[in-house]
Amino acid sequence: MNTVNIKINGYSYTMKHGITILDASFETMKFQREYLQQPIPTLYYLKGVVDVDDSGVCVVEVDGKLVNASTTRIHEGMEIQTRSEAVMGARREALAKILAIHNKSCVYCMRSTQCELQNLLHEYGFTDEEELPMSSIQPLDLSSVVLVRDNNKCIRCKRCVNVCAKVQAVSAIAATGTGLDTSIEPASPKGLAAASCVNCGQCVAVCPVGALTEKLQWELVKEAIADPDKFVVVQVAPAVRAALGESFEFPVGVDTEGRIAGALRRLGFDKVFDTKVAADLTIIEEANELVERVKNHGVLPMLTSCCPGWVKYAEHFYPDMLDNLSTCKSPHTMFGALIKSWYAEKMGIPKEKIVTVSVMPCTAKKFEITRPDECGAGVPDVDYVITTNELGKMLKDAEIQLEAISPSERFDEPLGDGTGAGVIFGVTGGVMEAALRTAVEKLTGKPLEKLEFVDVRGMNGIKEAAYELNGTTVKVAVASGLANANALLTRIKNGEADYQFVEVMACPGGCVNGGGQPHQLAAMRALQDIPAMRAAALYRSDDRSAVRKSHDNPALNKIYAEYIGEPGGETAHKLFHTSYIMR
Ligand code: SF4
Ligand code: SF4
Ligand code: SF4
Repeated sequence: MNTVNIKINGYSYTMKHGITILDASFETMKFQREYLQQPIPTLYYLKGVVDVDDSGVCVVEVDGKLVNASTTRIHEGMEIQTRSEAVMGARREALAKILAIHNKSCVYCMRSTQCELQNLLHEYGFTDEEELPMSSIQPLDLSSVVLVRDNNKCIRCKRCVNVCAKVQAVSAIAATGTGLDTSIEPASPKGLAAASCVNCGQCVAVCPVGALTEKLQWELVKEAIADPDKFVVVQVAPAVRAALGESFEFPVGVDTEGRIAGALRRLGFDKVFDTKVAADLTIIEEANELVERVKNHGVLPMLTSCCPGWVKYAEHFYPDMLDNLSTCKSPHTMFGALIKSWYAEKMGIPKEKIVTVSVMPCTAKKFEITRPDECGAGVPDVDYVITTNELGKMLKDAEIQLEAISPSERFDEPLGDGTGAGVIFGVTGGVMEAALRTAVEKLTGKPLEKLEFVDVRGMNGIKEAAYELNGTTVKVAVASGLANANALLTRIKNGEADYQFVEVMACPGGCVNGGGQPHQLAAMRALQDIPAMRAAALYRSDDRSAVRKSHDNPALNKIYAEYIGEPGGETAHKLFHTSYIMR
């Protein structure tokens, strides 16, 4: 490998030839003592999404000249200053220009304290007196049930446009104009809801400021808890436990499962359940459906349906493949239907008095609960969805500190104990692995010797595997990120691939990287594989679990015996299965 010797702020480094100054600054993290204490700032750059940062803040000084660190490549003998007077002045000037077009209502902004612009304004000493008037005020786009677009806060970085087009293959939003005159607009003049947006929230996850946020429901949840006539049941998705800690300064990848159960109890929920149990329920139903399709020559490949971002994408872009989608609802809506039927009857509580709340890593689930076929018990399966981010806000609002709660608290019985298969639902390949643990035993009639299906693990956008079962080869594939799903489905439609079972998750890496997860700064995202670190927490949890196959969940088996009957039977269909719409 060709290397060059450079100096950054007087420290010597040997670096790979041809990388940018910005990449070299990230590389300094590998040097124990001489790493850059203050990273070169960025507002537009985001690894894998936007390469060039022309916001004006990503500048450094080389040979007395200011250069853009995201476009200038290092060469032998280069001497770089990242914090000279000229550099700091140029960055301040650039920030002032951005501030002039930015609504400064930080006090009320969802992204306050997690805003990349706000962080830089503090660092570069901006004060209230320097605020400049906005040239024009644009109306908010409130058309979506999931997202709020506030162009008054937009700093024109185009991260959202790139992630929506390149990573998600949707293009529901686009940029018009150039420089600071750029405007970000939805593909439909009627607003985002009328565009083909699938509600994945990846644009929210990459937005450096509060110009794109999830539509909040946590105040409504607070009202329900305070209402003495309501019985409020909350459930928590697997991926939330791998990320909520980040909102409380825990390192990335710490599993906060017990602390979350305790924190929700302190918020006043009447019952605190675990969506892991519902993931097991989904697997029992989905594996049964797969086995039926394989045995009875049904429509194959069967495509998973637990990701509402992916389901809406299929409805928009692959309407001719809707029969391939499993009819299973996603875990949290199955859980809602179970709570408002079996649990309501068991506890003697009228289903109309029960309010079900889902804490999810996902923005698309806010849309999912509004779909017409999500009322298994005759009332909405789930009443409110709040994201991991919203739960963080809600806990802080109630002065509940996650670190002060014991990690050994537990979810409530009888729906508080899921299996290891249920917990890995939160990561790409997890649904496939969980389903295989059940489907293979059903198809072969023999217990599995090894539960890990390592071929479908990892953060690759597309993964494939083949398994020999009773003399038949079963081919499977996993895609995360909708551009990857699009590539995979194109191959299937063109007859270039013949899988029996395909898992798709809209978010790259799966739900651990969902649009409602805590925000991480661009420098952190460049240095660390954050989805992989969160995923590792879920795999550790699976390893520790006493029960690791969904069909061995004792609580669920009892409910099937007492109430549901057979998987895929009449009651199961009424409560847990759904239908799709050509859009
Ligand atoms: S939510 Fe997803 S599909 Fe909709 S605009 Fe954002 S990135 Fe695009
Ligand atoms: S909405 Fe956010 S991500 Fe999109 S261009 Fe504006 S600031 Fe960037
Ligand atoms: S991958 Fe997970 S977080 Fe992302 S849209 Fe799908 S269900 Fe939601």
